[in-house]
Amino acid sequence: MSYVRPNIAAMAGYVPGEQPRPGTDIIKLNSNENPYPPSPQVIEVLRQVEPELLRRYPDPFARNFCQAIAEVLGVPADWVIVGNGSDDLLNLLVRACADDLARPIVYPTPTYVLYRTLAALQPATVVEVPYPDDFQFPLKDLVAAQGAITFIASPNSPSGHVVALSDLRDLAQQAAGLVVVDEAYVDFAEGSALSLVQEFDNVVVLRTLSKGYGLAGLRLGFGVANPALLAELFKVKDSYNVDALAIALGTAAIRDQAYKNACVAKIKASRAALTKELRQLGFTVLDSHGNFVLATPPQGNAEQLYLALKEQGILVRYFKQPRLDDKLRISVGTEEQNHALIAALTRLTQAA
Ligand code: PMP
Repeated sequence: MSYVRPNIAAMAGYVPGEQPRPGTDIIKLNSNENPYPPSPQVIEVLRQVEPELLRRYPDPFARNFCQAIAEVLGVPADWVIVGNGSDDLLNLLVRACADDLARPIVYPTPTYVLYRTLAALQPATVVEVPYPDDFQFPLKDLVAAQGAITFIASPNSPSGHVVALSDLRDLAQQAAGLVVVDEAYVDFAEGSALSLVQEFDNVVVLRTLSKGYGLAGLRLGFGVANPALLAELFKVKDSYNVDALAIALGTAAIRDQAYKNACVAKIKASRAALTKELRQLGFTVLDSHGNFVLATPPQGNAEQLYLALKEQGILVRYFKQPRLDDKLRISVGTEEQNHALIAALTRLTQAA
């Protein structure tokens, strides 16, 4: 007998990338973290934390943070909702909108695996619309699925491709329910769907400080949508879903755009170099707009390579699922880390 709901008992459970214990000497290129530390201004605020900040409950609406977002992104502060990472907001959206087994949760695949997990937890039905090999946007099938929510990651993980704004606009116009544009990797791309939030009352754009700002450990993300929709979502949000430290440090991070932009520029340059070097080794590599690349090894031995790299202290991401099981997703590291990866892959592919 199981003590939990049948749909939970039936679930395999979401398995995130391996997270070695802090202090472990590993080249970690499996979770699309930023290889550079957060802004020195974040560290300065951390040093100066007053005990009072920790004694009191945090601001449930993180208004200082929202104000900083408003100033930097040019969206009104009351169009912003904060989350304990954008995962928290994805969870909140599914809890608020999934219609049990009536209207489905819809998304094109392959994409971020958490969408499926969150739907299974409800339980809600899911319609997965496969991307064609050239990643043309499957607008018709997405619309036809009539989702309570349609999730679109852009840039998408693990493919790294970007969905055109015109495609997202068509989807927003034609979709029956919410369209959630997950822009976790937008800092590494050109453009954004943020303007659609003003045009359509069914569009939510999600962002995170885990990637461009190098704060994955802090757990801070935010969503932008119209205040009427946010008022509904606030009913579902945990009152204190984001802690006081995250609000204070996240505000400092958002205000230091120059530092973030400098990190992003280095990562984009390394992404180009990594792509080129992998191709020289015979890998097929998609052009990526994220801080990672999706690479198919020439001998089709992705799982073996993943294991062999792991043995040498280099973690990359391997997905044991159709269409991805011949590929590796490799986060862009520092130049030094990328060189170590390429050196290891050169040895391994030449030995094979
Ligand atoms: N969306 C996508 C597409 C992601 O890949 C990730 C994290 N890997 C997230 C959202 C979640 O990011 P976080 O919860 O750290 O903000």
